[in-house]
Amino acid sequence: MRDAETQGLVLYSRNYKEKDKLVKIFTASFGKRMFFIKNFGKSPFASSLQAFTDGKLTATINDSGFSFIEDVSEVTVYKNINADIFINAYASYIISLADAAISDNQYDPALYAFLKRSLELLDQKFDMEIITNIFELQILGRFGISINFAECAFCHTTTGPFDYSYKFNACLCKKHFDEDLRRTHLDPNVIFLCNLFQEISLDELKKISIKPEMKQKLRQFIDGLYDEYVGLHLKSKKFLDSMQPGSWADIMK
Ligand SMILES: [Zn+2]
Repeated sequence: MRDAETQGLVLYSRNYKEKDKLVKIFTASFGKRMFFIKNFGKSPFASSLQAFTDGKLTATINDSGFSFIEDVSEVTVYKNINADIFINAYASYIISLADAAISDNQYDPALYAFLKRSLELLDQKFDMEIITNIFELQILGRFGISINFAECAFCHTTTGPFDYSYKFNACLCKKHFDEDLRRTHLDPNVIFLCNLFQEISLDELKKISIKPEMKQKLRQFIDGLYDEYVGLHLKSKKFLDSMQPGSWADIMK
């Protein structure tokens, strides 16, 4: 047990007993922790502890059991994430990915910063699908997955077009397509964009414009990678999938 100050981002909260709440917060200094808030409705921190809220916490951090908050200050609320059902759905999905990617209590300030930056960009109305794809590809390493989209697995050429092979868990250049007769037959731009998204820093991200058709191809390919290598079943992802064009969500636009 120790008293500490840290930045923290609220991932979610849930009711606990009659009036209390458990709030899961990704802290910069102590990883993800579960905080117990007694009588949440009357807590002075209730509004500072909504999902997608970032703030400076003064807290008692326990390595087992719940942690406790003494104060929250310098609170940042992501207004557009809260107000827009679409942005909210993307933000919820990347938050649940970050939650699934590392264990609780694991120190990971880089992931905290990456998540926070991604939410900031979503809140600033950057392209939601692109931010999400970048997040999905860059967080793969936390799940123990490393894929090289930059070169052919056989001859290491960095000149495309490339296709993806699940047999070799790698990219193939044109000369080596025959190595895997069941290669994916992807649009080569998908691999090009995956490589770009894997390398890019969110701080350097300029406006990228991608056609809906290409976005759809990226979505399918990244879903395939997650099915094959990660195997998560997140409610937030199901909800996001239910909002795709042609669904009920069209009437909300
Ligand atoms: Zn090759």
